[in-house]
Amino acid sequence: MTQNNNSILTVGSMAFDSIQSPAGKVDQVLGGSCNYFSIAASFFTPVQLIGVVGNDFPTSHLEWLKSRGINTDGISIIPDGKTFHWTGEYGNDLNEAKTLATDLNVFETFNPQLSEPQKKANTVFLANIDPDLQHQVLDQVENPSLIACDSMNLWIDIKPDSLKKLLERVDIVSINEGEAEMLTGTRHLSKAAEAIQAMGPKVVALKRGEYGASIFVGNECFLAPAYPSPDVKDPTGAGDSFAGAMMGTLVSRNLDRNSITLQDLKEAVVHGCVFASFTVEDFGPARIMKLEQHEFDSRKETFLGMIRV
Ligand code: AMP
Repeated sequence: MTQNNNSILTVGSMAFDSIQSPAGKVDQVLGGSCNYFSIAASFFTPVQLIGVVGNDFPTSHLEWLKSRGINTDGISIIPDGKTFHWTGEYGNDLNEAKTLATDLNVFETFNPQLSEPQKKANTVFLANIDPDLQHQVLDQVENPSLIACDSMNLWIDIKPDSLKKLLERVDIVSINEGEAEMLTGTRHLSKAAEAIQAMGPKVVALKRGEYGASIFVGNECFLAPAYPSPDVKDPTGAGDSFAGAMMGTLVSRNLDRNSITLQDLKEAVVHGCVFASFTVEDFGPARIMKLEQHEFDSRKETFLGMIRV
């Protein structure tokens, strides 16, 4: 892991996931948007995680996160509470998760309160969670120099106003193309990006599953393919870990909203695509929890060789 003076503060879901895909099935594995995000970001920069779990959440998971340089002081453990549980399924189209059940459990009463050091964070990533909670965390950060967020179809559907207000406050949004279409009414990538930019964020990272990712900044863009993983088992967390590697890269270079260039974003997106290609190779975060820096570096070189002309 690269050390630097900066770090990312993130809030999102910490979960147990039960997942079924054509490659098999797992029950109650470690999941959640900010877990995936933090694991990926921790390869590039220190992370401070804000979240909530029940007392059913194994201490071994928390210890493991700490061992990766992820500060877990901001995780509330609710006595007698049950951790958020998501049940999802993928058919042959691995680009689309079908939610079978969402048990909010401890999320229903989550009231994140930041400590004084957490309020001083420079970079904030609001991982997928109720947009009202994303606002609540952002309201407490005093003077962030870079703010990014993610979301999902559920919130576009049931809390569009809160989500649109959030977009007015962020510099970078990471969103998948289906969600971008829901938000803007167009399937056309650059038109959707333009419409989202008009809502607030200067930078729009459109995740396109097996087709990679496209990043739009001002009127420039960069399109990256996905690394062709030979064995895709479970795409859960690909989007969150893409965002973790992308944001971790920007923060490791001490970039803020005024200093980021398209070149920085290109490198960050390449890291995002390479990282996500590991995430999908096993169920839950199993593959990325074993990932070694040299494996990442070597695949990055292969990937760059594939896209260079
Ligand atoms: P993705 O990167 O989009 O595949 O995100 C997958 C993660 O999102 C899973 O680990 C789930 O626990 C989490 N998730 C699913 N539904 C929700 C929700 N309504 N709010 C927050 N997180 C969710």
